[in-house]
Amino acid sequence: METKKIIDESNLYIMNTYKRFPVVLRKGRGMKVWGTDGKEYLDFVSGVAVNILGHCHPKVVMALQKQAQRLLHVSNYYHIEPQIRLAKLLVKHTFADKVFFCNSGAEANEAAIKLARKYAKENVSPDRFEIITAENSFHGRTLAALTATGQEKFQKGFEPLMPGFKHVPFNNINAINDSITDNTCAIMLEPIQGEGGVKIPEPDYLKGVRKICDENNILLILDEVQTGMGRTGRFFAHEHFGIIPDIMTIAKGLGGGTPIGAMLATDKVASAFQPGNHASTFGGNPLVCATGIATIETLLENGFILDQCNRMGTYLKERLGYLKEKFPTLIKEVRGMGLLIGMELTIECEPVVKDCLEMGVLTNCTAGNVLRFIPPLIVQKKDIDYLIDILDKVLERLKK
Ligand SMILES: *Cc1c(COP(=O)(O)O)cnc(C)c1O
Repeated sequence: METKKIIDESNLYIMNTYKRFPVVLRKGRGMKVWGTDGKEYLDFVSGVAVNILGHCHPKVVMALQKQAQRLLHVSNYYHIEPQIRLAKLLVKHTFADKVFFCNSGAEANEAAIKLARKYAKENVSPDRFEIITAENSFHGRTLAALTATGQEKFQKGFEPLMPGFKHVPFNNINAINDSITDNTCAIMLEPIQGEGGVKIPEPDYLKGVRKICDENNILLILDEVQTGMGRTGRFFAHEHFGIIPDIMTIAKGLGGGTPIGAMLATDKVASAFQPGNHASTFGGNPLVCATGIATIETLLENGFILDQCNRMGTYLKERLGYLKEKFPTLIKEVRGMGLLIGMELTIECEPVVKDCLEMGVLTNCTAGNVLRFIPPLIVQKKDIDYLIDILDKVLERLKK
């Protein structure tokens, strides 16, 4: 009864922007979360690719507690130690030289769009403002990020959108070639489209885009908000494709469960931002930066977790492949990299997600018919076996 009362109040007081399941999650540890009714769930959603180390990882919690006792918040009018340490770690392990901190993926993309425009206007031509993005992409819900997002269903009702964006088919080099003009300032892409249904480009696509950017003095912005932080088995997904961007945005997994985003760039590009050009009150807040440090240190320690991500990703794809053989009329394709895995169904996947939830496994549906698996990178074989067992039962019932 308690749960029903909580949900009634949720509906009464919370703005109706999410379609929510009738579940209230109260506690989490590692791969597991528990509802207010005591029911246990195995979490293959991880707060949408956020809890990369699992729920309440002791090192992340400890870092948060220690920092909370020392300093919660100060303004960016002053230098902030955890912010500097986190930036140094990110610079050490990426192509980037400089970092701007914000609070979410959308904000990181807003910062990237502003930086790209300012850099191009000042260093290439004042007419350069247009940003090319991909159809089916997802870059966030704030107005510029929403305009960059190549999906009309998210934009409907919010027009007029921002001027200066153009969408082209993903994984198509010719489409990019045909769309660049003297106004093009940047190309902005997810290395793998996450919300768009786990779409992986051909191995040489990003190399081709990089080449076009270099030849035409255009910036390459990679949105690694979902694919970053080890999700695909490398620290960042672009490492699989043998290229580096000029600007990269990250968020989701960065804080191991706390709200933090960042926009990274080379010195050359970053120098277009000067004091007063961009800011965020909470950006680089000591608390979330402390968790970011703990998360990256844990993630990169001995490469153990990235190894685990690769091994478990392979195992999960293998087991999903076995389901595909068993249910050829229901399952169209299994695809993914590391632990960003999609299983495209021939039917809407919402009923599957609902049944899995009832049977104690959190899964997620994206692009209507793609079941997406984005568990913590610490997921184990036994967790995957449990998931497959449940999916087997759910699909068996649906087949009838
Ligand atoms: C989730 C996501 C975003 C938006 O992040 P928010 O923190 O929700 O603003 C942007 N880009 C990609 C690729 C994402 O997956």
